[in-house]
Amino acid sequence: MKTIKELIGESLTEVAATRDINRQNSISRVYKACPELKDIDGQILEVRNSRFIAVIDKDERLIKRYDTAIEELQTKRDKIIARNNIAPDFDEEKFICSECNDTGFIKTPDGKSSVCSCRENELEMCYEQSGMADYPSYKMKNYRDDYLGDAPGRKKIKSMMNDLLKELIGKRSEESRSSVYIYSAPPQTGKTFLSVCVCKTAIKLGKSAYYAKCEDLAALMPDTLEGLKHVDFLVIDDFADTVTLSNNVGSILNTILETRAASKLDTVLVTPFPVAELIKKCDMRISGKLQSAKKISSEGR
Ligand SMILES: [Zn+2]
Repeated sequence: MKTIKELIGESLTEVAATRDINRQNSISRVYKACPELKDIDGQILEVRNSRFIAVIDKDERLIKRYDTAIEELQTKRDKIIARNNIAPDFDEEKFICSECNDTGFIKTPDGKSSVCSCRENELEMCYEQSGMADYPSYKMKNYRDDYLGDAPGRKKIKSMMNDLLKELIGKRSEESRSSVYIYSAPPQTGKTFLSVCVCKTAIKLGKSAYYAKCEDLAALMPDTLEGLKHVDFLVIDDFADTVTLSNNVGSILNTILETRAASKLDTVLVTPFPVAELIKKCDMRISGKLQSAKKISSEGR
């Protein structure tokens, strides 16, 4: 799986080529409408070439003559451009996206770097490659606090997830932070929706992230599993004690969590079960990690 930065980076050559094509097209358009300008530009080019040779020959007298000629042609050219209402920069290369100057990233009002709207395609591709192919319409702006009841609880969870994101992007406070978080909330309370949205937001902010269902861990390709150890942010949804006890999931998850903890990378386990119950019944290696995990829940408000 590729990060959004890699995907945007790969497209930069294509964007540069498009800029050049746009410039060529603009020039041909203007020349077609104003052959006089094409003619004078041809003359300027010719004189410049001759001047170049005079420079090599160190012929000062000739150089001066050509300089005067270029100046006169240039004055004529300016007049033609003004008379025909031609944009003076018609022959210059222009950014395709004026929002991000073709870098693919813009600065948000709070100073963070975020993917520009001109890179929607790369963003969608990145979401798909990051385990979220089934959730094309899950967007943070569609998350409603009051949907499904318990508005204060949903709001609290959202703000805790946002804090995680902020931490991910900004400075990490080393004290009192864990690398494993448990997001525990009853079934049908929008956990998957929020989890996918948070992953997408992390990607949008230039981080690598992955969304996986716990039960699918055993079926992932080896290189994807390897990737999960190193992405900046990982969400494992539908986490349940029974799942950790089947299909070797306990062992796979244990390796992932240990590698990530060593690199201080955040993992969020999303579950409909109470944390205490999970600690009691999980694969033993996972249980140990759950005990020190931080809780993300609507309780205690
Ligand atoms: Zn842009």
